[in-house]
Amino acid sequence: MSDQFTYRELRVFQMNWTCPKCQTGSMLADSSPGSMALLSDPPQFRHICDRCKNVEWNSVKYPTVSYRAADTN
Ligand SMILES: [Zn+2]
Repeated sequence: MSDQFTYRELRVFQMNWTCPKCQTGSMLADSSPGSMALLSDPPQFRHICDRCKNVEWNSVKYPTVSYRAADTN
């Protein structure tokens, strides 16, 4: 029974999307009321830079969570 499962230690990272315009701010998913996702396939979420207010669209909401194996760099 115990052969059926293996475990690998993971580390959890917050994954931030650096603004492609100012290269310093972070793109944050716009969660304000009335903010609509573009109903494309996949849906696109509106993001606003916390520095320069640049608007970008992405199918992933940032910041997001990224897992990496603890035994790799
Ligand atoms: Zn920016």
